[in-house]
Amino acid sequence: MPERTRFVLDERDMPTAWYNVLPDLPTPLDPPLGPDGNPIGPEALAPLFPMELIKQEVSTDRYIDIPGAIIDVYKTYRPSPLQRARQLEKNLGLPEGVKIFYKYEGVSPAGSHKPNTAIAQAYFNKQEGINKISTETGAGQWGSALAIAGALFGIEIEVFMVKVSFNQKPYRRILMETYGATVHASPSNLTNAGRHVLERDPDSTGSLGIAISEAVEVAATNEDMHYSLGSVLNHVCLHQTIVGQEAILQMEMAEAEPDVVIGCVGGGSNFAGISYPYYYRRKQGLSNARLVAVEPKACPTLTAGDYRYDWGDEAKMTPQMLMYTLGHDFVPAGIHAGGLRYHADAPTLCNLVHNDEIEAVAVHQVACFEAAVQFARAEGILPAPESSHAIRVAIDEALAAKDAGEDKTVLFNLSGHGHFDLSAYEAYNAGTLIDYDFASGTHVEED
Ligand SMILES: *Cc1c(COP(=O)(O)O)cnc(C)c1O
Repeated sequence: MPERTRFVLDERDMPTAWYNVLPDLPTPLDPPLGPDGNPIGPEALAPLFPMELIKQEVSTDRYIDIPGAIIDVYKTYRPSPLQRARQLEKNLGLPEGVKIFYKYEGVSPAGSHKPNTAIAQAYFNKQEGINKISTETGAGQWGSALAIAGALFGIEIEVFMVKVSFNQKPYRRILMETYGATVHASPSNLTNAGRHVLERDPDSTGSLGIAISEAVEVAATNEDMHYSLGSVLNHVCLHQTIVGQEAILQMEMAEAEPDVVIGCVGGGSNFAGISYPYYYRRKQGLSNARLVAVEPKACPTLTAGDYRYDWGDEAKMTPQMLMYTLGHDFVPAGIHAGGLRYHADAPTLCNLVHNDEIEAVAVHQVACFEAAVQFARAEGILPAPESSHAIRVAIDEALAAKDAGEDKTVLFNLSGHGHFDLSAYEAYNAGTLIDYDFASGTHVEED
């Protein structure tokens, strides 16, 4: 009997609640700190976020129902496919017992997992009468996700886009503008935060930390505007758990249980999406899966950062949170995986790594592109440079099992497609792509 390759979930079987990891963390999450260094309550976030998202940010309910209006939009591209990478397995010469599965989030309108939270955030803002939202974007994935969500719910979107990506990826900017958003290269002259950076370094290529400062400043100084973050925060990780919950149902259809679940990490929400539902499954005694977070060597937050309180942005406008961090003023080298260039990570993810519930590894970009091209030539999908980090480790895990003569089922999240990242592939194909380590990054506030 021919074996199945695609595990298609009916839209009527899509999960109807998000999974909240907060009540299941091994140690309670330490509170965010305000400007005076004292813990802040949820009300401190009210100028920037709608009440419903603030409630989700601190909720200890294990499941939070997804409103019907959000489910309706999700259904335009969800459930997303889960596939067995049979062709890749064959090309790698894997034995029977070593299997690779991937959950594919590139089918969303933005081409990544990011609309899962953008749609939810736009909806909850609109519910509370907000018609303008500012945000930052790295490679442009988050900006385009929010731009679409803004168009769907009638909200004006203003995007500060990290300059290196603004220049490398003009098509992402055009996409955002086509959906109706306004896009600025960051650092810009439009904010105090941006001007401060440009005074010190007129050639700054920008960073997510700087772009967040600019977007927060604009929202904080405009009464009728809110701010939206595409990763890191608890409510963002929460919204992404639709991914892992679907994956669990689809892996059941495949009659397989993953031994390892892999995802790339920028701010951590994509990885949270695939892994937190498996973390809970492990707590329930239904899974033994190792959970592996993959980050770039150029921005190795979890593997080389300090576990301490730090700001989420360059200009210290956000609260401080307990995270692994490379420093809020760290500007990583201009790797092509723009979405992975964040100096810190989601506090929930950092908590789980710190408590040894989740493993972290860092990989170089050239090896990631090798894996991405190997994947594209086997499975046909051109991966986003961010996602290639997960593919690298998925292939390495499979090959290690093959070498050891062990059985292993590998599941990874293919967080997006790379159709807007062709300049990166052009550089890889031309052999001009180079590796950067942590030391190739810079700090804004140098002594
Ligand atoms: C933004 C992005 C990531 C990183 O997501 P985080 O949730 O911030 O970790 C990964 N893959 C793709 C394709 C992205 O666009």
